[in-house]
Amino acid sequence: MAALTRLFRSTTTTQNAAASFIHRSLTTAAATQSVTPRIDPKGRNVQWVFLGCPGVGKGTYASRLSALLGVPHIATGDLVREELSSSGPLSKQLEEIVNQGKLVSDEIIINLLSKRLEAGEAKGESGFILDGFPRTVRQAEILNEVTDIDLVVNLKLPENVLMEKCLGRRICSQCGKNFNVASINVKGENGNPDISMAPLLPPSNCVSKLITRSDDTEAIVSERLRIYNEKSQPVEDFYRGLGKLMVFDLPGGIPESLPKLLEALNLDENEDKRSATA
Ligand SMILES: [Zn+2]
Repeated sequence: MAALTRLFRSTTTTQNAAASFIHRSLTTAAATQSVTPRIDPKGRNVQWVFLGCPGVGKGTYASRLSALLGVPHIATGDLVREELSSSGPLSKQLEEIVNQGKLVSDEIIINLLSKRLEAGEAKGESGFILDGFPRTVRQAEILNEVTDIDLVVNLKLPENVLMEKCLGRRICSQCGKNFNVASINVKGENGNPDISMAPLLPPSNCVSKLITRSDDTEAIVSERLRIYNEKSQPVEDFYRGLGKLMVFDLPGGIPESLPKLLEALNLDENEDKRSATA
């Protein structure tokens, strides 16, 4: 409770409203806990967190699953961008932080997230998939105090696959579409299956206009992964300790991985039904 008390001691009226909302959510949520993912286990929809290092495709999987389950896909990066482009109460403060190249504080992120959840509840939303949050153990502790996370899905790819994938990224300088020229075929190590990913090739009119992002170099990607691993390890350990962490080794790209992920989440039946009625 200490983190929450500390957090909300320094809050404004708006933040107190958000705090009371999340307290209300906490007290109305059923007390049962289960690690086995199910839809609607508590008279509400799923409340999941997706973890995964940059390049793993976490946003894509989170977005596909949220569409399937009818829950919002809440990416904290989007919340920050939306607040920045709005005239919201935090936009000025955020602008300064971002312009100075500083990290957005836990308090601001929690505040944006609380506001988003509150607005969602007002519209009748139930459940969520969080993407990009929590990033630190402190954020995880605060989240744990204010709401009931059912499951944390940690998406994994071997580092050499991630590297190839990041180095293969291309953007069309004309239409802005993203492609990937890497054709990945990596032999599985330690008894793990091989991983293959087909490239996502551009149409002929984009080919001559492809550019590589300046930060998709081997050195920068490997530094990004190192920093991510260093920060995410304690968050993974935190959820492992709560019995809520599900590690999922992606067997390839989305076509290979999505069905297996749905199966692991006991959602494959749901998917069949959806396809049948589509
Ligand atoms: Zn193009």
